[in-house]
Amino acid sequence: MTEIFKGNFTQQEPIPDEGIEAALEVMRSGRLHRYNLVGGDPGETALLEQEFAAYVGAKYALAVASGGYALATALRAMGVRHGQKVLTNAFTLAPVPGAIASVGAVPVFVGVTENLTIDLDDLVAKAGEADILMLSHMRGHLADMDRLLDICAAQGLTLIEDCAHTMGAAWKGRPSGRDGLIGCYSTQTYKHMNSGEGGFLVTDDDEIMARAVILSGSYMLYGRNGTVPPAEVFERVKYDTPNVSGRMDHLRAAILRPQLRVLDRQCEAWNARYRVVEDGLRGTPGLTVVERPEAEQYVGSSIQFLLLDWSTEAVNDVLSRCKGRGVELKWFGGSEPSGFTSRYDSWRYAPSERMPVSDRILRGIVDMRLPLTFSLEDCAQIARIIRAEVGAVYQSG
Ligand SMILES: *Cc1c(COP(=O)(O)O)cnc(C)c1O
Repeated sequence: MTEIFKGNFTQQEPIPDEGIEAALEVMRSGRLHRYNLVGGDPGETALLEQEFAAYVGAKYALAVASGGYALATALRAMGVRHGQKVLTNAFTLAPVPGAIASVGAVPVFVGVTENLTIDLDDLVAKAGEADILMLSHMRGHLADMDRLLDICAAQGLTLIEDCAHTMGAAWKGRPSGRDGLIGCYSTQTYKHMNSGEGGFLVTDDDEIMARAVILSGSYMLYGRNGTVPPAEVFERVKYDTPNVSGRMDHLRAAILRPQLRVLDRQCEAWNARYRVVEDGLRGTPGLTVVERPEAEQYVGSSIQFLLLDWSTEAVNDVLSRCKGRGVELKWFGGSEPSGFTSRYDSWRYAPSERMPVSDRILRGIVDMRLPLTFSLEDCAQIARIIRAEVGAVYQSG
């Protein structure tokens, strides 16, 4: 009997009823804009900012229109200039180099290891080229953050963290996004909280936050934000910080607040699914499981494995056999970017020298989403299917 998986890899859970109710309330009020407030009501967006800042333990949080907007705002708030180089991961998604390019800066790509984290030796080698590292915790894999911070300190690099896949994750108990000067998160549908589009920027720095708030489009109503730096800091920056609108509205904030309250539980549910798939894949001939370090508290909202040194035909064969059995895998090694997959060489606006060691790893990365609508039994079935098809192709090769 050949099993076929019937689940849908793009199906998210519904928004919690509490969020739907709160959203209806916002719509009934007609006051959707974050600064359209009445009486002493702080509004959903400011409350969400306070709650998110408390969740990650940051002094300040700013709710914005997208994760990519948060990243670009971080660079603008730091005063990044046209032509300035910014270090970032070769293994990441398009919004990261896109944010760097959006401020006229130039991405310098740093290689990837078999753990799917940034290659810290390559970082040391390239550190002299830039003052900023925009570190992407791509697919939720945290590098050795202690060594990374030592490198940043020794090389004078300021760290911005892209936590699109690490909201709720931690390194040695430190919430992801809190090791850098600025942490950026996304609440786009495929991340850990779902408002369709949305994001956060967090920092402890008064001036960065004041600039970020004004950049986001506060129309000098910044006193109404959820977490507000001292007034004199705004006085210092408000006349020379441009408005680049990218606010979050009350509707999105209303559906996010109940999700934040259950985020830790959701993260545990992802990890339970992740471990079932990981256990099912371990020991498959030709397939390398990505081992997770003890110090990393990850959120397994997706899983990756490596088919190292496989031919293009063999990888494509695995992908189409799995697809035929209902299991949708994405291959980062594909030469044409499709869906969300992309490689540093497909970002032609940011040419890079080839990185042969990283290229070998990127060519081997296979990726799969683990939506919470999958049961643990679904996950076990998915792993059986991948194991069988990888095994079949491996043996015939
Ligand atoms: C989704 C994502 C972002 C940005 O998210 P948007 O909210 O879609 O702009 C940034 N980095 C990574 C790695 C992502 O996957």
